[in-house]
Amino acid sequence: MIYNIGVCKICRQGFLEIVKDENSGIMYICCDDCEAEWSTPEDAILGQNGTRGKYGKICYPKYDEINKIGWFKYII
Ligand SMILES: [Zn+2]
Repeated sequence: MIYNIGVCKICRQGFLEIVKDENSGIMYICCDDCEAEWSTPEDAILGQNGTRGKYGKICYPKYDEINKIGWFKYII
């Protein structure tokens, strides 16, 4: 299951997925199309402060991991 929080403001077609850096365990938001990244759901939704290539290999966090950091409310 991949959780997303909306459509990317940068490319206007990709989905904003909640992802996790496999090595560090840090969770962030990544567009599944243009691969822009954001540290927080707020920035991703607004399309501000995006980066590319900042994080390593992606894995997908489980529902309870997303819930634990309070990002569940952003899932659409
Ligand atoms: Zn995008």
